[in-house]
Amino acid sequence: MVGTTDQTLRPFLWRAAKLYPDREIVSRTHEGLSRTTYAAYDRRVARLANALDDAGVSRDARVGTFCWNHTRHFETYFGVPCRGSQLHTINPLLPDHHVQYIVENAADELLFVDPSLVESLESAATDADGAFDAVEQFVVMGSDVPETSLDPVTDYESFLADDETYDWPDLDEERPAGMCYTSGTTGKPKGVEYSQQTMWAHTMGILPEAGLDLRASDVVMPVVPMFHVMAWGLPHAVTAAGGKHVYPGPAPDPADIARLIEDERVTFTAGVPTVWLGLLDYLEENDADLSSLERIAIGGAAAPESLIREYEESYDVQVLHAWGMTETSPVAAAAHLKPGMESWPAEKRDRKRVKQGLVLPGLEFKVMGEEGEIPWNGEDFGELWIRGPWVTTEYFGRPEANETDFVDGWLKTGDVVTVDPEGYIQIVDRAKDVIKSGGEWISSQELENAIMAHDDVTEATVIGVPHEKWQERPVAFVVAREGVGGGPLMADIRDLLAEDYPEWWLPDDVVYVESIPKTATGKFDKKVLRDEYADHEIDDVPEEAAPEEE
Ligand code: ADP
Repeated sequence: MVGTTDQTLRPFLWRAAKLYPDREIVSRTHEGLSRTTYAAYDRRVARLANALDDAGVSRDARVGTFCWNHTRHFETYFGVPCRGSQLHTINPLLPDHHVQYIVENAADELLFVDPSLVESLESAATDADGAFDAVEQFVVMGSDVPETSLDPVTDYESFLADDETYDWPDLDEERPAGMCYTSGTTGKPKGVEYSQQTMWAHTMGILPEAGLDLRASDVVMPVVPMFHVMAWGLPHAVTAAGGKHVYPGPAPDPADIARLIEDERVTFTAGVPTVWLGLLDYLEENDADLSSLERIAIGGAAAPESLIREYEESYDVQVLHAWGMTETSPVAAAAHLKPGMESWPAEKRDRKRVKQGLVLPGLEFKVMGEEGEIPWNGEDFGELWIRGPWVTTEYFGRPEANETDFVDGWLKTGDVVTVDPEGYIQIVDRAKDVIKSGGEWISSQELENAIMAHDDVTEATVIGVPHEKWQERPVAFVVAREGVGGGPLMADIRDLLAEDYPEWWLPDDVVYVESIPKTATGKFDKKVLRDEYADHEIDDVPEEAAPEEE
């Protein structure tokens, strides 16, 4: 036997405080910009753990946060799990009834809430009988408490204890340490629990080059919210690396993001594609110095090739396309190039980089088609199954979902993928987003990526609309650049798609919309469009809307 302690988060905090005491943690907050160091952070984390003891919060408690990305929230990332409790991050952008369900299902004992989110929390708390029964205390993330019906309530700065040291316990690695709910693009939110060990393993998984390649010299700004799958594990992993943290604060807009990159010399940032599309739009009209920025990890939804290219060509920023799920902690694959591919012609190289990529070391996957595992030929597709030390094996209190979503320790992801001979996974669609025309599958994701490459299109999504004869036909929803749209653009889009896709794949209608509805995690919300356009009439269906029989 080797190894005298379990795999837990505590050593990451200890190492950063000892080895990188002066490295900075910078944050936009509700009160302006804050700047601290690991040494000072370590003391604040101890004060938080002491405060939780003083408040009588049990070691086994789940402690919820309803907060944006800022230093105080980051303090809970170590303070809560290192004392043995479970950090439950709640997405404040979810509808009230989801927040209610989540807080009650998790039975959080204490909730940290941002000043700007107090009203939303109140509205979720008062909206139903007995809502938030388990919650014994609310703590507002600031130095005073706004007018509120939340009760009992205190402010974070008064809540913190004075004692700046804490006798951190030795914890069992199986001990629950974190919890997130999937955002519900596929129905009622499902809770996923992370243990000390799964969080340790995910941290170690994303640190090296084959993961997100995080270094002590990096200045990392997680734009992906800390309420969404632990900001992809970055707060823990950047600490493990000894890097500088930059948190973009409450509801950051593209101007905030650009300013922080420029002022703090950010080298690495991460978030969903819509954030980076928004920043590009902003940069068209405004100047910003992005020269420090080396890499952006984009994931959570497919990163269009045009987006990857534009960052590289116009700003010399490498995009790393990554894939993951709440259930996989989340990072599980990343589209790194293999040795030798760097010198490929740009187009061939980009065809790899636009894929969801290579599975991270430590994980295993297989792809199940109708007749068993599919071959790695880049064409056959099936459902991606994955397993490994940071992949969950069950949902919290959901036996019916556990029956359907797991087989012998494998997580059935619901993502439909191909795998090419080099092992690059490519998502064709989520199982329920695949469009079935005449029994044959059309990939909505491929079509939307192709449409988004058009210069006059800022956002696009494609859904299957029910059709009497063909079951479903694709319809595109497009946000056009100001001043364009109508027939000419529609014809253009069809011409563009016709270059690469058979006629029966082409959307039969292009609907111009002001914006595409988004989920609480910034992904296109196809559920809303599918409901709204369930009776949409399509005139232009081709004679043969399925492939010809061979
Ligand atoms: P939800 O299921 O509530 O949307 P998650 O954030 O866990 O919550 O989403 C995981 C899903 O997001 C994946 O199963 C996949 O469908 C999609 N996804 C994640 N990363 C990518 C990516 N790089 N490209 C395409 N889809 C992605």
